[in-house]
Amino acid sequence: MLVLGIESTAHTFGAAVLNLKGEILSDVRDVFTTVEGGMIPKLVARHHEQIADTVIKKALADAKANHIDLVVYSRGPGMSPCLRIGLAKAKEYAQAFKCDIIGAHHPMAHLTSGLLFTAAQDPVMLYLSGANTQIIALEAGKYRVFGETEDVGLGNALDKFARALGLGFPGGPKIEQLALQGKWTELPYTVKGMDVAFSGIITRVTQLANKGVSKEDLCYSLQEVFFSMITEVTERAMAHLRKKEVLLIGGVAANKRLCAMLEIMCKARGAKFFAVPMQYAGDNAAMIAWQGLLEYHAGRRETTLDIYPFERCDDIDVIWETAKAPLSK
Ligand code: AMP
Ligand code: MG
Repeated sequence: MLVLGIESTAHTFGAAVLNLKGEILSDVRDVFTTVEGGMIPKLVARHHEQIADTVIKKALADAKANHIDLVVYSRGPGMSPCLRIGLAKAKEYAQAFKCDIIGAHHPMAHLTSGLLFTAAQDPVMLYLSGANTQIIALEAGKYRVFGETEDVGLGNALDKFARALGLGFPGGPKIEQLALQGKWTELPYTVKGMDVAFSGIITRVTQLANKGVSKEDLCYSLQEVFFSMITEVTERAMAHLRKKEVLLIGGVAANKRLCAMLEIMCKARGAKFFAVPMQYAGDNAAMIAWQGLLEYHAGRRETTLDIYPFERCDDIDVIWETAKAPLSK
């Protein structure tokens, strides 16, 4: 059985082909970037529309797939104009291959592909992407959110500061580079119970940048504060849930300083730290194909083909028995 996944929630338009063994036969992506400024949904959607067929055809060719048994699209959450392009393309290719089509929840795909790509069994999952910051664990049949951001996602907060510095999108990697040359300057720290808040800190670093404090020092201090906040709530979730593993997923997982802090915390607790491989940390279609396959294999069929820009992972019933490969047939 061959599955074609299509990802289009935000900056990345991707297509990938995967089989029941969880083997990725192809994975093609084209990412919207800017030199200055951020993501304007209409412009991102135009980018996706222009490159969609090239990306999908390359994924089919790379996989040497002349038939497809299931098409999976990323149904949300995400930017509506971008989600619509993914759905339209999924319908078009499902019709061409005369096969079924199913929608996958994008954050759930990050979670279950994290289990596919690592040896983690029952971790506290730390989902840190552009738009999302959540501490999640599987408890009583659902992936439940134990802590989250009260305002913007961690990646978007970094991107916002990078934009203020005129660094372009995505900002996270640029901040990570500048931070290597920086030293500590005092910043606020906002943990509220199990939740975190980033916006006020971004306002403060932007004020300090306008007053002439060095970019390097601000990037260093911003990373130290943000990642300490995240590490603190993750540790508390582990203590409450009595879990002995952490799995880091989402684009911010590419950050080496963040991984180092989480490693230190895990080591001190006798726990194991896993991060999704760099290549699959950000948005990709292989994870969408895997999530769709898990649900299809567990018997779910799509009744309404639609987009869901605001759906949360705790809305979804976990009907699949395992997220580990291989699936039986
Ligand atoms: P995603 O939405 O999961 O594709 O992740 C994209 C987000 O990850 C963007 O906000 C990026 O700025 C952020 N990101 C990517 N690489 C890094 C990095 N090395 N350090 C921090 N953030 C990063
Ligand atoms: Mg994502």
